[in-house]
Amino acid sequence: MKGITVLGSTGSIGVSTLDVIARHPDKYRVEALTANSDVDGLLEQCQRFRPKVAVMADEESGRHLAKALTEKGIPTEVLCGLRGLETAAAMPDADYVMAAIVGAAGLLPALAAVRAGKRVLLANKEALVVAGRLFMQEAEAHGAEILPIDSEHNAVFQCLPPDGCRDLEMRGVRRILLTASGGPFRTTPLAALKSVTPDQACAHPNWEMGRKISVDSATMMNKGLEVIEAHWLFHAEPEKIQVVLHPQSVIHSMVEYIDGSVLAQLGNPDMRTPIAHALAWPDRIESGVGSLDLFQVAQLDFEAPDLQRFPCLRLAFEAIKAGGTAPAILNAANEVAVAAFLAERLRFTDISVVVDETLQRLPTGKVDSLDGLLTIDAETRGVAEQVALSRV
Ligand code: NDP
Repeated sequence: MKGITVLGSTGSIGVSTLDVIARHPDKYRVEALTANSDVDGLLEQCQRFRPKVAVMADEESGRHLAKALTEKGIPTEVLCGLRGLETAAAMPDADYVMAAIVGAAGLLPALAAVRAGKRVLLANKEALVVAGRLFMQEAEAHGAEILPIDSEHNAVFQCLPPDGCRDLEMRGVRRILLTASGGPFRTTPLAALKSVTPDQACAHPNWEMGRKISVDSATMMNKGLEVIEAHWLFHAEPEKIQVVLHPQSVIHSMVEYIDGSVLAQLGNPDMRTPIAHALAWPDRIESGVGSLDLFQVAQLDFEAPDLQRFPCLRLAFEAIKAGGTAPAILNAANEVAVAAFLAERLRFTDISVVVDETLQRLPTGKVDSLDGLLTIDAETRGVAEQVALSRV
């Protein structure tokens, strides 16, 4: 029986994780659940899963949750704020921690799980983008096991030989092929992109996800963040990572070996597959995902990404090549720009402009300390807000 903490349990990944856990009451029990401000969502999950601890990042929401739990006679202890998130991530009875908070806000709680030596099921790619080197070093130092939840990285992990993440060259890996659907605007006329709405950007053709990652998929910044994530997870140089547009989202990624073999992982586009894989690894469990109907899929298409249509992908490749603080700046500027777009304060096509201009305004030196990275993150947000305001 494994104890599990789900960071970000009210989100898209969190809900899918609880769906898989609920299918295996003999294998998993929920230790802690966390959210930002969704009191009703977390209350309902506490009623169902009876965790020891529930955390609301937002203090006032925490007070509401505590009151509601008392009224219902549920003995779950309520904690608040970053301290609460870090406590939930490091609880002694939590064997596994699902890191599914969105954005850089997920970095410190995920790091707390790493430092407590947990098996970390990592969905929060932004943690690796902001602090990849430090995150991986801490995992090594504390014996934490990092299993990728992003469907692409989970696919790569499945296509690599056991222990293959350590030295790709020695294992005969030539390239990692990260697939990308191209999002909802893959074929939209370029001139129409400046007037697309948040709801159109969030209407992903194949995946149901939270709003931030949905916009990232529409700009393909998501794939850019994933290239950086793959760089750290698999110790792969950016030149060894190729992005392949594959609109059907059936092949979740591939690994090419020096003998010419290409291994792919396929499946229905449903996050419960990588979640179940990482929960049970190295075993397999039912996830609730049905069989892939290849006759229905019928055809698999591939294209090279168009960097004019998707400038965010180009910016991400440039950031990882520049190294230093560039990926952290890229990430924070993108978070600000996406939030402004979702709040209808910024045009879709200005997301890449905000990221680009912010990167140009800030120095991208080498900073390896956590405090240094957090300072850069905060500073970038201020600059990106100014740039976004100037685009209105
Ligand atoms: P959602 O927006 O659906 O959920 C985010 C979760 O994080 C919610 O529980 C939310 O709480 C919580 N949260 C938000 N802000 C904060 C904060 N400041 N402090 C603490 N908790 C916070 O996101 P997704 O589930 O879509 O994505 C989660 C992560 O997984 C992202 O990093 C994303 O890139 C990654 N990912 C997601 C995939 C998907 O299919 N959705 C696929 C691959 C990766 P509340 O509900 O209260 O706001």
